[in-house]
Amino acid sequence: MIAQTMIAQTMIAKTIEQQLERASWIRRMFEEGIRLRQERGPDNVFDFTLGNPDVEPPEAVIAALRRVVAENRLRSHAYMQNAGFPAVREIMARRLTARTGLPFTQDDVLMTVGAAGAINTLLKALLDPGDEVIVLNPYFPEYRFYIENHAGRVVEVETDDNFQPDVARISAAITPRTKAIILNSPNNPTGAIYPEAVLRELNEIVRDPVILISDEPYRPLVFDHIEQPETLRLVERSALAWSWSKAMAVAGERIGYLALSPRLHELAALRGACTFTNRILGYINAPAIWQWVVAEVPEITVDVAQYQAKRDRLCNALSAMGYHAPRPQGSFYCFPRTPIPDDIAFIRRLQKEGILAVPGSGFGRGGFMRLSLTIRSEELERSLPGFERALRQP
Ligand code: PLP
Repeated sequence: MIAQTMIAQTMIAKTIEQQLERASWIRRMFEEGIRLRQERGPDNVFDFTLGNPDVEPPEAVIAALRRVVAENRLRSHAYMQNAGFPAVREIMARRLTARTGLPFTQDDVLMTVGAAGAINTLLKALLDPGDEVIVLNPYFPEYRFYIENHAGRVVEVETDDNFQPDVARISAAITPRTKAIILNSPNNPTGAIYPEAVLRELNEIVRDPVILISDEPYRPLVFDHIEQPETLRLVERSALAWSWSKAMAVAGERIGYLALSPRLHELAALRGACTFTNRILGYINAPAIWQWVVAEVPEITVDVAQYQAKRDRLCNALSAMGYHAPRPQGSFYCFPRTPIPDDIAFIRRLQKEGILAVPGSGFGRGGFMRLSLTIRSEELERSLPGFERALRQP
């Protein structure tokens, strides 16, 4: 019995190890960065790997935080309703109604531990073992863990040449076991934004019991004033996973929400299930103080212009050198082609120049690399000769 348990434990450990192997490129590059900094000195390492905002939260956010702490409302530090403070959810519901024209109420909004908490809460409520969730390749590697956390099965569907959803392929991948499709626009890692026409087409194929989960932590990070369509308005069977992590540069504070479309016929059951799963996943509720902070300044965002300036500088410089580096429309990532098909070999070449990037393989699409615009402008500038030399290396 004990031996069997030990064998089972070893198998679980092995599976986790294999999964980490697939999804650990970001972490591996992080460790490589530490090694390179020790070897070459911090000024000679150019880290394009992290999705961590390099800016401080806007002053208005810090001012709101100070006010909330100073106010120290009664029972602010106690357990609360698992879905979050009703007054905060009411504010979010009103904003969603203004954006979509749909009759959101506070009951349709659950405050969560970031977008990651929102997605896990919903998947836990939706999935039975073996149920399928469609993700669009290339994709944020943690989706696989979120889905498998709840015994779901990942079904990867390739995007088209411009990293847009291929609706015919998605439709062909839907089976009686499909419970959800995860969409992420603006996209990590590609920077693509999905236009209204694509969302309308998706609305035609998302049928009961499938729910489209729109993961939008990068929503305000949109360049060139591109209009970002509202998935909740355009796709009847949808839910929104939102967080202020990137919008306010407060990723460490873990604050976001899950919004369920009022048009879901199973809404009442789903609200109840998500309130329960948010609790039993160990979150209990979203951080109390940050609920009040975002309620005070929900619309405040970091300065997008600085990301756009870095995008322009990097993509222009890489293109001039001969890289295929189209400009992303949003998020804070560029996703250029690697000049040789073996993206991992090319990442090694860049490392010799002190440049750290994540291979496209880490997101399921070899032959590309992800470069984060959270790098400081001055470092970006000094990294450019290294990109040029890597291109010319034999
Ligand atoms: N979804 C995507 C596409 C992300 O890139 C991230 C974080 O990098 C998350 C979700 C998780 O967001 P949060 O930190 O707000 O939970």
